Formats: sequence, structure tokens, C-alpha cells
Amino acid sequence: MRDFSQDHHWLSINTATIRKSNGTDLPLPVIIEACARRGIRAISPWRDQVTAAGLAQVSRLVKQHGLSLSGYCRGGMFPAADAAGLKAARDDNRRAIDEARELNAACLVLVVGGLPGALAGKAAHKDIALSRSQVTDGIAQALEYARSVGMPLAIEPLHPMYAADRACINTMEQALDVCDELDPGRTGALGVAVDVYHVWWDPKLQSQIARAGKERLLAFHVCDWLTPTADLLNDRGMMGDGVIEIAKIRRWVEDQGFAGFSEVEIFSTGNWWQRDHDEVLDTCIARHKTAV
Ligand code: ZN
Repeated sequence: MRDFSQDHHWLSINTATIRKSNGTDLPLPVIIEACARRGIRAISPWRDQVTAAGLAQVSRLVKQHGLSLSGYCRGGMFPAADAAGLKAARDDNRRAIDEARELNAACLVLVVGGLPGALAGKAAHKDIALSRSQVTDGIAQALEYARSVGMPLAIEPLHPMYAADRACINTMEQALDVCDELDPGRTGALGVAVDVYHVWWDPKLQSQIARAGKERLLAFHVCDWLTPTADLLNDRGMMGDGVIEIAKIRRWVEDQGFAGFSEVEIFSTGNWWQRDHDEVLDTCIARHKTAV
């Protein structure tokens, strides 16, 4: 297992972590400058932030600072209530793959979607099995295009509390079943993003990480699970402030040969997004050394 205690060589910042500073939106170029200033070598930006700043400008800044992208957030949201919706999702994933290529991301992260309409407040139906089959079909189509341009796709299993509105793939086992079905040759084109927030509780986590192996372990996301958690989406903790055995999970991932970045991804309406982003980044660097 790599020693993170002396430096932050393998730290990546998911840009959602400082999407707000002192409660107000922070533009992506400012986020990039703040990371580069600290010698942070990688980021993982969100599409809405890239769109707001302009893909060309973001691409230029990333190159200028020599930053890597540990991932690009995000593609997915495959299920839909009708054919037009399915096609719109297919087209949107193509665009996401193209953007990820332009930014030279290590992978496009997929949050696969749940029941269509649920995220907006009204599910079109209750058939989660249908959603799951649409997800598999959607990933298959996206994979065909992603392969042609050389962009790996990383399925991110989300905690089951998001099954209705965000992702009906909720365990590593489910994600890996899809990988095995669509990429039986383990080519590296399709794998998983292991986010400790979503999977720490899973009794099969260690064995499924071993099943994934190096070829399927495309990203590693860290934060912490607070007790109590005040908000199911936006109350993620800083590493070390909660109950996840982050270093243990990192060991399992690295035992398989994963040697990529440890990406800090914290959504925190009530705490970290209220603080100054300089303080948040400095804390991420410190906790990367002590709690990851
Ligand atoms: Zn994540």
C-alpha cells in the first residue's frame, strides 16, 4: 500500500468539493487555479461546471497546469419513460464521452439513473427491473462509442438510498455483473468507480473488489460517513470525521494493483461549502495524509 503520509502526490480533488466557497458558487477556473497553486496534480470536474466555464477554456487551463483528470463527472442517467427519452440519454452520453476525451480524463464516471422522472419528483413508473435493463442497454450503447474513441467507462454503484432517483446499480456486485456481461474480455474499457461513501457498508465489499481486479478498478473516491447524517445527498464528511475505514478499503483496492489517484468528493451544503475553499483544500491535503 502506498504511503500517503508524506505528500499529496496521489490526491485528486473532485471539483464538487469546492463548488461553493463561503456559500457562493466558485467558478471552475478559480477551482483549477487553487488546486494548481497547492501542487495538487489531478481534479475530477463536473459537466455543469465545465459547461459554465466553456470546454475550450477548461481544456486550456488543464493543459497549462499539467493537471490530470482522475475522472469526468458524469455520464449515465440512462432510463427513460419513452423512446425519445432513451435517445436523448444516448446522445447526451456521447457528448459526455467527447468532453471526457477532450479533457483527457482517465474515465467517464457513470451514475446510471433510477426510475425515470423520480429525480424531478415524480416517477413515471415503479418498475426498477425495467430501469436496470435500460441501464444495461444504455451502457452497452455508450460502451460501443467509448471504445471507438478510447474512453473507459466507470460505473459508480450508489448507496441504495439513491436507487429510485439517481442509480439503480447499488452494489459492486451489480456493477461487476454488468461489466462481465458487456466486457467479458476485461479489456479495461468498462469498470467501476469505487466511492467509499456508497459501498463501505457492503459485507461483500472486499470480495467484490478482489473480483473487480486491476482491469475494472478505474477510480477511487473518498469522503466520510457522518453519524448522524443530516442530509442524504449533501452531508458528506471530511475523511477522518466519520465511520468509514478508508485506509482499509484503499488497501483492498491497491492490493489488486490500483495505483491511481485518491479523489476527494464531498458534497456538504451545511459545512464545507460554507467555508472558504482555501481552508477546505488545505484540510483535504492534511486529511489525505492522515485519514486516507
Ligand atoms: Zn463518487
